[in-house]
Amino acid sequence: QPMITMEHVSKKYENDALALDDVNITINKGEFVFIVGPSGAGKSTFMRLLLRETLPSSGTVKVNGYNISKMKNKDVPYLRRSLGIVFQDYRLLPNKTVYENVAFAMRVIEAPRRLIQRSVISVLDVVGLKEKYRCFPSQLSGGEQQRVAIARAIVNQPSIVIADEPTGNLDPETTWGIMEIFHRINQSGTTIVMATHNKDIVDTMQRRVIAISDGKIIRDVAQGGYDD
Ligand code: ADP
Ligand code: ADP
Repeated sequence: QPMITMEHVSKKYENDALALDDVNITINKGEFVFIVGPSGAGKSTFMRLLLRETLPSSGTVKVNGYNISKMKNKDVPYLRRSLGIVFQDYRLLPNKTVYENVAFAMRVIEAPRRLIQRSVISVLDVVGLKEKYRCFPSQLSGGEQQRVAIARAIVNQPSIVIADEPTGNLDPETTWGIMEIFHRINQSGTTIVMATHNKDIVDTMQRRVIAISDGKIIRDVAQGGYDD
């Protein structure tokens, strides 16, 4: 079951930089996919197309049943709510507690109070932060803040989680704790697309690897490491 497809997708920015050049891929339900490549390869452009933060210059991008080029602006919030999104820099609300940071994602979709309580406690348990629900982000380590961000990303049970360098600011030990959580989320059937520079995690996890260089897909293997 395809969750994400790109057909003949190219992206040229105003300054004529060709960030993606005829990209063709299909990502199916339940896959765990690493997007790798050197700086400037086109990884961020690839990720931003999935969130409709930018539009393709040509070709077709489909995400969760939405056609990125053809969809109406008013539907963009629904696309984004159907995805769990995790950033390198966590992007938590500094003046809200851990609990409120996660609950906020459900309040915007006007979920009932009891469902919010039950779901927030449940996802904080998944990421191992149930006891810290009253803390503010500044009282947490970087790894803990990223775990809150992951809890927020999954609380509405998205079918796809999109993570852009989620461990980029973390030390190796903390990184493994975070990867274990993504692994668990993937085991429950959620599709995961993760851009990363971390050779160690890609080599160890042995999942699908899509390597981009100069805007082109130069390697796409069902199970492999960073370079081979
Ligand atoms: P990566 O994430 O792999 O570092 P990017 O997708 O950010 O790669 O960049 C791919 C290419 O597109 C680079 O040449 C970069 O300079 C260019 N680029 C990226 N974003 C923009 C932009 N907003 N405007 C113009 N050029 C851009
Ligand atoms: P790390 O070594 O992973 O960066 P820290 O040393 O920042 O972790 O934090 C270790 C523990 O202390 C964490 O559980 C964190 O929640 C707690 N902690 C860190 N800073 C504060 C703070 N300012 N107030 C309360 N608890 C804190």
